Amino acid sequence: MSYSTILIIDDEQSYLDIITNTLKNKHHKVLQALNGKMGCKVAERFLPDIIIMDWEMPEMNGIDAIKFLKNQENTKEIPIIMATGVMTAVEHLETALNAGAIDYIRKPIDPLELYARINSTLKLSRSYKEIKSQKENLEDLNREKDGMVGVVAHDLRAPLNRVMGLAQIIKMTKDLDKELLDTLALIEKMCDSGISLIRDLLVINNVEYESGQMDWKEIILNDFITLLLKNYEVQAKNKKIKIHFNHSQEQLIIKTDETFLGRIIDNLLSNALKFSPPHLNIYLTISRIENKAAISIRDEGYGISPEDQQKMFKKFQKLTAQPTGGEDSTGLGLAIVKSLVEKLEGNIRVVSELKKGAEFIVELPMRA
Ligand code: ADP
Repeated sequence: MSYSTILIIDDEQSYLDIITNTLKNKHHKVLQALNGKMGCKVAERFLPDIIIMDWEMPEMNGIDAIKFLKNQENTKEIPIIMATGVMTAVEHLETALNAGAIDYIRKPIDPLELYARINSTLKLSRSYKEIKSQKENLEDLNREKDGMVGVVAHDLRAPLNRVMGLAQIIKMTKDLDKELLDTLALIEKMCDSGISLIRDLLVINNVEYESGQMDWKEIILNDFITLLLKNYEVQAKNKKIKIHFNHSQEQLIIKTDETFLGRIIDNLLSNALKFSPPHLNIYLTISRIENKAAISIRDEGYGISPEDQQKMFKKFQKLTAQPTGGEDSTGLGLAIVKSLVEKLEGNIRVVSELKKGAEFIVELPMRA
């Protein structure tokens, strides 16, 4: 084991000496303090790797000393073993652990037992420090990556929008032949999928749609969805799929962010279309369940296996079901849906059996 600094706080000099001798023989550096107050000062000054703390001491007892040290930024991570010969009942052990001690040893101390305890605590503490520093490194790297994705995606969006705009200007020219018109339509389609991929990457990296930018307002869910469904008429017709919108006469008024809600329904509806073979149905149903509005989107497509259901809300998951009409698939849609639903303070669940379709149910608080 490598060399460590151990602070022993005890008002009995004889104990201090016994322990010091045991540990010194094992090549540890030992510091001593005769009461809690002095012990705290030594700990703050020398930042030992571990502290062995007596309970009953003049000036400041062991429990108060532990509480003090656990409250200081520079000493709060130092592991402390409580060593006592008086306060040995179970409730005392609990008090010591609650105050912040990591372990407890009864006096009279057996030097070998103490040595073993110190070793295992030091090992634990070193692993903890290592994991903490690795976590900090990973968080830094992740922040850097998010920043980079944000910048790249932002800068890519502008030229794509520009190409799209130029294609639209050319399309306005009179007497273009069919071949050129087809090429322009292809350019527009490719720009469009590039722009939506960028938008997904920005959302998934939290660059866009931060909670602070949310715009909560009251909407009539029935009207909102009726309008949104118009965007899917052509796509559904091309795939010979019929979308049924079921709602009662009651107007469901919810307070929400329209952009977030639009993206949630867009993603779920496009998936239902994307993963359904032609000539089937999609049912979009809204209802009130107690004080929540439930939006259900059910298809009759391939369905989702229990194994796929475990993974489907994670990023970049392209699972068993494949698009049935050559549509794009990035594996980001459901991760975005989940994060947006959470931002709207709702929840999402799926009910599905293989080959029997899938139903996604989003529940949102009514708030109104
Ligand atoms: P993408 O649609 O871009 O592939 P998603 O995150 O939306 O990404 O979906 C992840 C995966 O979950 C899909 O690739 C598909 O395999 C499966 N999936 C999603 N929705 C459905 C659905 N309605 N029916 C069957 N499988 C689905």
